[in-house]
Amino acid sequence: MDIQNLMLNSIYKAFIDNWKIWVAIILLFIIGSIAQIFIYRFRRKAEKKLKFFYLSKTDPKRYEIESKIDNNICPECGSELVIRYDRFGRFKGCINYPRCRFATKIV
Ligand SMILES: [Zn+2]
Repeated sequence: MDIQNLMLNSIYKAFIDNWKIWVAIILLFIIGSIAQIFIYRFRRKAEKKLKFFYLSKTDPKRYEIESKIDNNICPECGSELVIRYDRFGRFKGCINYPRCRFATKIV
């Protein structure tokens, strides 16, 4: 048997002998990709909902938003903020509620 044939044979054998490991690696890769898509979507949603909290404390935008909230002006659409109640207690929400979903805790 020549050396080339032997090498090919051993590579083929190594692949066949470890097929379970290859399947596991491919499955993990697929599951990982799907998980990443879900994590990305979830993060996008959370960032959109909580974008105010993602601003750093020194960001001038944050100061602007905070002063608007203090004056009961919705920072998203410029309408009035009103006090609303839900099962978690009081919060300030936009008066245009179904169209504008801005809401914030009362500190
Ligand atoms: Zn609004």
